[in-house]
Amino acid sequence: METVKGKPIFEHHGYLYIVNKESGDKVIWCCHNYRHDQCRGRLHTINGQVVKTVGDHNHEPSNSSAEVIVARTTMSNAAKQKSDTTHNIVADGISKLSDHAISSLPDLRNIKRTV
Ligand SMILES: [Zn+2]
Repeated sequence: METVKGKPIFEHHGYLYIVNKESGDKVIWCCHNYRHDQCRGRLHTINGQVVKTVGDHNHEPSNSSAEVIVARTTMSNAAKQKSDTTHNIVADGISKLSDHAISSLPDLRNIKRTV
C-alpha cells in the first residue's frame, strides 16, 4: 500500500506506519499519527517481517484508516488525471467509502487542500 505521496505504508494490528529509517533489509517505521498526535508507536521490520515493536500508541487502532488513505490516494490520482473540479472528485471518492470510513474522514476542506 502507498500513501498519497507514493511513500510505502505498513499496517500492523490496525495501526498504520510510515518509513522512519531504512538500512538494508531493516526498516524502522513510525506511526503515521506521530506528527499529528506525537504518537510514539514504532515498529522494526526485516524483509517485511515485524521483528520488534517499540513504544506505545496514544490512540486506538483504526479499522478504516487504511481505507481512508487508499480513498485519498484514489482521489489524488483522479485529480491529476481528470479536468474535473476538485469538488466532484472528492464527492465521487466519498461516495465509494463505507459509512464508517466517512465518519472518520478528516474535515472535508483538508482533503480538498490535499487533493
Ligand atoms: Zn500510533
